[in-house]
Amino acid sequence: MISKQLTGIYQLLFDRFGPQHWWPGQTQFEIIAGAILTQNTNWANVEKAITNLKAADRLTHEKLHHLDVSQLAELIRPAGYYNIKAKRLKNFINWLFENYDGKLTNLENLDTDRLRAELLAITGVGRETADSILLYAFDRPIFVVDAYTARIAFRHQLIEPDADYERLRELFQSNLPQDTKLFNEYHALLVRVGKEFCRPKARCSGCPLEKLPHSLDIEYF
Ligand code: SF4
Repeated sequence: MISKQLTGIYQLLFDRFGPQHWWPGQTQFEIIAGAILTQNTNWANVEKAITNLKAADRLTHEKLHHLDVSQLAELIRPAGYYNIKAKRLKNFINWLFENYDGKLTNLENLDTDRLRAELLAITGVGRETADSILLYAFDRPIFVVDAYTARIAFRHQLIEPDADYERLRELFQSNLPQDTKLFNEYHALLVRVGKEFCRPKARCSGCPLEKLPHSLDIEYF
């Protein structure tokens, strides 16, 4: 039942919006950096920070490894919370160099559970960031949950409104085929409908999901 609902939602979203071409990023490290920089800000600001890093010829983990954290903070200033994010980016890079010889390719040998656990142990890498890295940088079949996912799942009564991140992830991950491409596209489509329609004040009229049962009785966000 729930599998059918989730598949139906995906189909409606895909039919309306088409492929979203996520994650924007030319290299594996650019995707990882973007996943860390996008915390608590919009993508336009992340793009400015990425552009700065590219212009300074610093958008590789090898080059950033030698860069002072305060210089890195200056470069990523447009992303907001730049001092904190510079430390987080450095935390990831230091972990990579201390444990995996500074090579992203060495992470490819780790199974998904181990890699997820190690990413989550890095200070400043939360669940959404870790799962974005796993899905979009390493092509692992992990479903990324964010505030849009939660809001849509709650309003469409796919799960109880007190469900936490892991339960939401489990909802999608265990009721859909373990398909990285599907998870990639599905998350991007949820973000799209969340931004355009399923805002804190919902705009159900014209939403691709408006004909599906939903309730706005409880405001979750
Ligand atoms: S805007 Fe309305 S119809 Fe669209 S996803 Fe949100 S609750 Fe559902």
